[in-house]
Amino acid sequence: MEKRLLEQGKMLPIMEEFYSLQGEGRNTGKAAYFIRVGGCDVGCYWCDVKESWNAENHELVNVDQVIKNAQTVKAKAVVITGGEPALYNLTYLTSGLKRLGFETFLETSGSEIITGMWDWICVSPKKNSPPLASEIIKAYELKVIVSDESDFEWAEENAPKVRSDCFLYLQPEWSKVNVMMPKIIEYILEHPKWQISLQSHKYMHIP
Ligand code: SF4
Repeated sequence: MEKRLLEQGKMLPIMEEFYSLQGEGRNTGKAAYFIRVGGCDVGCYWCDVKESWNAENHELVNVDQVIKNAQTVKAKAVVITGGEPALYNLTYLTSGLKRLGFETFLETSGSEIITGMWDWICVSPKKNSPPLASEIIKAYELKVIVSDESDFEWAEENAPKVRSDCFLYLQPEWSKVNVMMPKIIEYILEHPKWQISLQSHKYMHIP
């Protein structure tokens, strides 16, 4: 029964839900209700939400309840993040939110087929599990995490795979921010098609 509801996207393993400001990328500064879905098989060594990886550690939650929870906040925007949310059928959740007038923002690695109705798709490509060509093309923003200098090559490898109107971001990996920030600034000055994205929520000490 639960398996069927999971496949239908009517139940999802939810790790946490919270109301905050989007800290990263094009929508930085916007208030949004965050829904973090558990489960990720990408395995980035610098991942700051490793506790999300094992979906079995996160209770399957009725999606109707999640939609109700989102209605308790003042913002009409929802960020669905993970883990890797695209592991799941997100059509039921996002169509329910859209019916209520929410904007829906997705954070994904692009390594799985994306389902659902989206106002904004951020693809953050990961070397361990590169984005599918069919999915990276859906990105409104490409956000490459820069942990060392090889990530500039990784960024350039992915940039030709997005649409011409897709925003291109380089974001320092938080534990390396002091080392990588000056290198990213220098890189963008030389390659101005890129912009910097900072994890501004970490500077603001909010989730
Ligand atoms: Fe962590 Fe995201 Fe990488 Fe998954 S894709 S390991 S959640 S940073």
